[in-house]
Amino acid sequence: MAEERFQSFGLATPPAHDVIPADDAVALLKSGKATRNALLSYGNGRSYGDSCQNEAGMVVDMRPLNRIRSFNAETGVIEAEAGVLLSDIIAHAAPYGFFPAVVPGTQFVTLGGAIANDVHGKNHHRRGSFGCHVEAFTLLRSDGRTHHCSAADNAHLFAATIGGMGLTGLILSASIRLLRVPSLDIVEKVTPFRDLGEFFELAEAADQANEYAVAWIDQLAGGHGRGRGLLFTGNHAEHGSHAALRAGGTLSVPFQPPFNVLNRPFLTAFNAAYRWKKGWSATPRQVGHQGFFFPLDGVGNWNRLYGPNGLFQHQAVVPEDVARRAVPALLAAAKRAGQGSFLTVLKRFGPIHSPALLSFPRPGFTLTLDFPNRGRATLTLLEELDHITVEVGGAVNPYKDARMGADVFAASFPEWQRLEAIRDPAFMSSFWARTAKKLEMRRGTVEAAE
Ligand SMILES: Cc1cc2nc3c(=O)[nH]c(=O)nc-3n(C[C@H](O)[C@H](O)[C@H](O)COP(=O)(O)OP(=O)(O)OC[C@H]3O[C@@H](n4cnc5c(N)ncnc54)[C@H](O)[C@@H]3O)c2cc1C
Repeated sequence: MAEERFQSFGLATPPAHDVIPADDAVALLKSGKATRNALLSYGNGRSYGDSCQNEAGMVVDMRPLNRIRSFNAETGVIEAEAGVLLSDIIAHAAPYGFFPAVVPGTQFVTLGGAIANDVHGKNHHRRGSFGCHVEAFTLLRSDGRTHHCSAADNAHLFAATIGGMGLTGLILSASIRLLRVPSLDIVEKVTPFRDLGEFFELAEAADQANEYAVAWIDQLAGGHGRGRGLLFTGNHAEHGSHAALRAGGTLSVPFQPPFNVLNRPFLTAFNAAYRWKKGWSATPRQVGHQGFFFPLDGVGNWNRLYGPNGLFQHQAVVPEDVARRAVPALLAAAKRAGQGSFLTVLKRFGPIHSPALLSFPRPGFTLTLDFPNRGRATLTLLEELDHITVEVGGAVNPYKDARMGADVFAASFPEWQRLEAIRDPAFMSSFWARTAKKLEMRRGTVEAAE
């Protein structure tokens, strides 16, 4: 039975039809009887598309594995089961003056999901991706063995599992190093920019001076306003709160409206209001960490506002030297197609390498666009965005994706065969079947013909 609780965030792909509890999956794997492509871990479904789905088999509900096992308040190393949410890690460590070194735009992701996608935050320029802060983890494979993995121990499994999108086995538990911070609060500065040229002038210096930097673009603005936006920078406040209020929005969208609420007139009004509201706080001010890092977590199930067809997110990263033409080209394509993006985010990735075999962040600029699913028109636009991205040597993010073609994936991750070689045969995702397996089949056909 398809279960709503096992959807992915974009709601544009079918939810899992078969679910197995973590304990049963552990027993199955330990017995050595798991069949090919039977399993895929499901963290908290905050991936946008089908990288957390497995049409060919079952998804493993990892959320019940949610105990924090130990925390060293001197070093900030925390060990927890893979289904623990980042929100729980934050709540646990905050009173001791620690915070995850990397957090994505929602705290409702599991530890296992953050490792498996090697997620990034607003401080990639300073701290790299999540994988840079993983000390070790235990990985259960279909050979029935639990492998202890770190940079020194089973290093090949360590590298392949970080950013390995769940394909190398079940991460059972992990230890990560947290960042010592003076408080959770952030001293935030909001700098309006008139166009993308101005943003590119500001971006590098903003990264150098701040722990966190990210820009919001008013994607619907035309004429003189084209490319305008707000640059948010921030650093942890010396004096501020050490308490993470219990996670959970005060507002929630209780049911799915029958149509997309985030339509163009709404977005134009929203963008104008957002700019007006945020534009006034050009002088630094101290804000709570929830609003700074996780603004959308305040409204539960906000993805439902896109209506029954859901949304597609497109995240591209393009090399720094071509960003000044590629980013405007991506925005122009969306505008030409008449598709409004609810949140358009632009940020610079720095040069810090991840230990991962495959990882999305790489030096350059990353642009994220959200579109309501309008069927063929949206898919055509997304293909155009893919094309612009790979043509300049960039990459499209697989865990935000629900439809990219195999060639776009191969161009984005030329090393994909190294992950396929180490993939656990019992694990498969709909994403991998749609991209890497298709490439393999094509390769097999060519080899057979030769
Ligand atoms: C509002 C919002 C904002 C976001 N902002 C960002 C951002 O700023 N930066 C960013 O990088 N991402 C961002 N994301 C995406 C999100 O951070 C990632 O998709 C994250 O990996 C989801 O984690 P999850 O626990 O929900 O895992 P799922 O989405 O359920 O699964 C993700 C992957 O991890 C694998 N996996 C899960 N648990 C395990 C396990 N125990 N062992 C092995 N594999 C496992 C799954 O098989 C799957 O391949 C955002 C998502 C949302 C909804």
